[in-house]
Amino acid sequence: MEIRKAKQPPTAGDQIAELRKELAKGNAFTEALLDNLPIGIAMHTRDKGDIGYANEKFLEIYGGWNRGDFTDLDTFFKSVYRDPEERKRVRRRILQDMATGDQERMRWDDLRITCRDGTEKILSVQNVPLPAMNLVISTVRDVTDQKLTERALRESERRYQVMAESSPVGIFRLDPDGRCCHVNKRWREMAGLTLTQALGESWISAVHPEDRDAVSETWQSALNERRSYKTECRFKRPGGKTAWVLCQAEPVFDTRGSLEGFIGSVTDISRRKRTEEEVRQLAYYDPLTKLPNRYFFQEQLERALATAQRTGRHVALLFCDLDNFKDVNDSLGHDKGDLLLKEIARRLSACTRRGDTLCRLGGDEFVLLLPSVPGDHEVVAVARKILAAMKRPFDLDGNEIYSTTSIGIAVFPDDGGDFHTLLKHADMAMYAAKGRGRNRYRFFSEDMNKRALERVGLEAGLRQAIDRGELSLAWQPQYQLQERRMVGVEALLRWNHPELGEIRPAKFVPLAEETGLIHSIGEWVLRTACAQMRSWQDEGLSPVRLAVNLSASQFSEPGLVEMVRRVLRETGLDASWLELEITESILMHDADVALKTLQSLAEDGVNLALDDFGTGFSSLLYLKKYPIGRIKIAREFVQDITREPNDAAIAGTVISMARHLSMQAVAEGVETEEQALLLRELDCHEVQGFLFARPMTGNEFADKLR
Ligand code: C2E
Ligand code: MG
Ligand code: MG
Repeated sequence: MEIRKAKQPPTAGDQIAELRKELAKGNAFTEALLDNLPIGIAMHTRDKGDIGYANEKFLEIYGGWNRGDFTDLDTFFKSVYRDPEERKRVRRRILQDMATGDQERMRWDDLRITCRDGTEKILSVQNVPLPAMNLVISTVRDVTDQKLTERALRESERRYQVMAESSPVGIFRLDPDGRCCHVNKRWREMAGLTLTQALGESWISAVHPEDRDAVSETWQSALNERRSYKTECRFKRPGGKTAWVLCQAEPVFDTRGSLEGFIGSVTDISRRKRTEEEVRQLAYYDPLTKLPNRYFFQEQLERALATAQRTGRHVALLFCDLDNFKDVNDSLGHDKGDLLLKEIARRLSACTRRGDTLCRLGGDEFVLLLPSVPGDHEVVAVARKILAAMKRPFDLDGNEIYSTTSIGIAVFPDDGGDFHTLLKHADMAMYAAKGRGRNRYRFFSEDMNKRALERVGLEAGLRQAIDRGELSLAWQPQYQLQERRMVGVEALLRWNHPELGEIRPAKFVPLAEETGLIHSIGEWVLRTACAQMRSWQDEGLSPVRLAVNLSASQFSEPGLVEMVRRVLRETGLDASWLELEITESILMHDADVALKTLQSLAEDGVNLALDDFGTGFSSLLYLKKYPIGRIKIAREFVQDITREPNDAAIAGTVISMARHLSMQAVAEGVETEEQALLLRELDCHEVQGFLFARPMTGNEFADKLR
């Protein structure tokens, strides 16, 4: 159009005439272009308000007028604003704004009009004055729909806020990074957080610390993958309380598909959880004693059997049945019977260790599961503990009664491979125990009964062995390998049983440890050996080092260091002649206490040797901090040293590492010349074994010294 290019300000009449002429010229292109724009366009002169042009859209927006209907602003206003007041107001405003020339104010975003047919519209109008040409160009858009939508949105947002705030469900909104941007009242109550504490933080800050790691992990992956999320967890609440909640979150995307955030809900499921727990209690626990019932027991047993199949350990079932429960019930009544059962449950529980399961099968039948036992003596120990626990009288509300128990024992794998068989066999063994006079235990298998009996006899005998003078020492010399010179002797314990003859320590030392007899026996060994060595020294026999074995349970006794000092003092043997042989298990149990004890012994001048090295778990480097002077390589490694390259390599490594750590290596159980030669090649310092000397009596050894 020519209009913008005019150089001199033409008169209004000229302008309009020009414009009309242009359009009349049938500039079909321009007209078509203007008429097809999606916005209304009109032009009028600035001073008189003559309307020179209005496109189709403009006429349509204002209510379907014809081009000839508006010739000037007056007719326009008259036609469009039928209410004189409104007309005046709008007109004044438009003219005023134009007079100030303020571009901003000439833009109206919310001009409301009523069309000819009565419909109301909201228009966005922009007036652009072109003073040089005395023209004003108006562009008009119908924004009715947009404005209504915005208003509806604002309204729904407001309603959402009101609704959310009063919702009985906890509601939260998160930004795309998972930080809270809104949490409603209920949410804040459940989480025990204020709005300011919650906003900007991850919602996980409301989760109970114990659940936090697990929740974090699953939530993080939902967040990363922008998918919906659901979990049950606990919320921490002020005052140390917790609430179980069901937490759900859905991702929200905008129209372009980018993540706007998450919207989620939190429901309190504490009551459901409580009910579930109650149901579990009912299904799995005995309401009277609060012990697990048969179903729970079966599950635990089956789990234990599966594990034992892998580990090769034994599983034991101890079926306990009261010997006189019926009498109590009949004479004192069921209330007292219930009291007795509760007390029995308490005493039985006290006999269990972590990992054991005690359950009440029903009536006066209890069964104890030991899920992993190395052998039958552990089982016997528990059975005897139970029998001992029943010895004290029971106080049933003032009635003092005595009750005993009979115990039947079945052991996997020997006595059965499944729950029903094992339970049946334990039950049968329990009846056998009752048949033999009650208040005792019986194994299902005869074999085990025999062994248990033997043990009981052995234990009774061991208690008297010292007093009866049945203990003695055997002496096995130790040699320096290079020169085959005797440098030491190990005192080995022997028990000369009046009926069974000589019993080796492997058979009775574990029993002595279990029964606590090891402390008096251990002291007897040390005292006898030291006294003997001192008397040989006094005889003028060439002295050698004396090795005495200490067992792990001796080591856990607090008075050990004192005992050693006392014995040395009383026998008069110098500490430097004594070497105590300890095993790796000592270092495993309570490493700090072990270190202290060993240090005290070393400070006294006592030598320390690590016995049976290689059968435990320790590495040589780990031993560095202990004041150990000699390592005894276990017989298990030495015996195949000439046949098994692996064993030779292990022995070689131990020897060279020992030297590296300023320790000496002693090979145990050397039986052949080949072994001795190979050990010499490996530079082993000392040896002990049948090749050089078997354990012998004191007199034989004294002869050797001479
Ligand atoms: P240990 O301390 O490793 O003692 C060496 C064991 O190996 C002794 O068995 C000994 O007779 C045996 N032995 C030595 N040389 C050979 C050999 O060349 N070939 C074979 N096959 N065996 C050999 P013993 O006397 O039966 O002692 C067994 C274990 O009992 C000892 O192993 C030690 O751990 C423990 N023990 C012995 N006496 C005592 C003691 O007074 N107190 C404590 N707590 N344990 C002791
Ligand atoms: Mg030893
Ligand atoms: Mg040994």
